[in-house]
Amino acid sequence: MALIVQKFGGSSVADVSKIQNIAQKISKFYSDNNKIVVVVSAMGDSTDILLEMANEINSHPSSREMDMLLSTGEQVSIALLAMALDAINIPVISFTGSQVGIITDNIHCKARINKIVTDKITCALDENKVVIVAGFQGRTIENEITTLGRGGSDTTAVALATSLNADLCEIYTDVDGVYTTDPRIVKEAVKLNEITYDEMLELASLGAGVLHPRSVELAKLYNVPLSVRSSFSNEEGTKVVNTTLLEKEIVVTGVTRDLNVAKIGLFDVPDIPGIASKIFNFLANEHINVDMIVQSAMRNDLNDIAFTIPKDDLNKALEIINRIKDDIKISEVVYADDVAKVSIVGAGMITSPGVAAKMFKILADNNVNLKMISTSEIKVSCIVDADQADKSVQLLHESFNLANLK
Ligand code: ADP
Ligand code: ASP
Ligand code: MG
Repeated sequence: MALIVQKFGGSSVADVSKIQNIAQKISKFYSDNNKIVVVVSAMGDSTDILLEMANEINSHPSSREMDMLLSTGEQVSIALLAMALDAINIPVISFTGSQVGIITDNIHCKARINKIVTDKITCALDENKVVIVAGFQGRTIENEITTLGRGGSDTTAVALATSLNADLCEIYTDVDGVYTTDPRIVKEAVKLNEITYDEMLELASLGAGVLHPRSVELAKLYNVPLSVRSSFSNEEGTKVVNTTLLEKEIVVTGVTRDLNVAKIGLFDVPDIPGIASKIFNFLANEHINVDMIVQSAMRNDLNDIAFTIPKDDLNKALEIINRIKDDIKISEVVYADDVAKVSIVGAGMITSPGVAAKMFKILADNNVNLKMISTSEIKVSCIVDADQADKSVQLLHESFNLANLK
């Protein structure tokens, strides 16, 4: 008997027949004497529809009310899935995040889980029930509803697996595992049987939407056995592991692109200690996640600073910068939201010189201009024009020969 946390994404519960299909899948694991905790996302694109309605009604909706609204999507799917299991005689109970006691900080729309009270779940498991928990949501200690950021149900699943000390956390989705790149962009992409936590964390953080970055962070931190599988087949999927045999020979494991990127440039910033700290502190205080930062060489005691942030935060970031611009004596603020980040990831890069140079050459030979570059031990990222992002992913996938990676 094993305790398994299974998470089903929006496309896996998009309509009634898909919910019934999931119920059948769960019932097989249950009948094999496993204890099952299920996490579900909102049906299909219902979260997008709620967001659109909110923005039609108010162009600056409060993040508290946004959480109140978005959390309803998952409440629909937990109840329907519970009814589907009940209909095939599987004992079941559903809970919202708030009911279970998924306690988060109070940053609406980007909340982080601080603690999970597991009593309700363990009681229900002891009664041999399948437990269904709404993904993506929790509550603060003041009982305010919060959500964890888009794609956050993966994080709910891994956090539950950690708190319950589960034997396995399975993420079921509309692809049968983690691929060398998004198979919607490159049809030659191949499924990886295994990937390291480190590589998966980079891929997820750099735009591979298949897993929420924080879910991978948590899985790595607590060593949660994690796998990504298809809701629609019985394929093995991809296991996320500590080390792989492949790691030694393979330099690049995956290519990603992230379209949720905006770039801000600050001209003529005084070159004195404390200025960068001041600018980035203001942004951090508003929970804006700054990614790449480039400071140009000094001239006349003035620097140019450019940085990237998620596109969703662009308006908020510009408001902040414009508020402090005169005080800091920045001469001009420019921005672009038609950019994307293209990255290559691979644990083998640490020991293979020339990987970044090869990436730059491939892109240069194909007239892709690199606006910003950043590297770590296992990734190289470039900011390019958004309309060149998919072409760049295709070129890199082909040139690094990822279609033959197995
Ligand atoms: P869910 O609704 O199940 O959470 P998501 O849409 O969040 O599903 O994630 C699955 C999607 O992630 C796939 O349909 C695929 O297009 C995309 N994706 C991006 N990068 C990758 C990758 N490297 N491997 C697999 N899928 C990827
Ligand atoms: N329903 C939420 C979203 O669409 C959370 C999730 O699916 O993980 O982002
Ligand atoms: Mg997802």
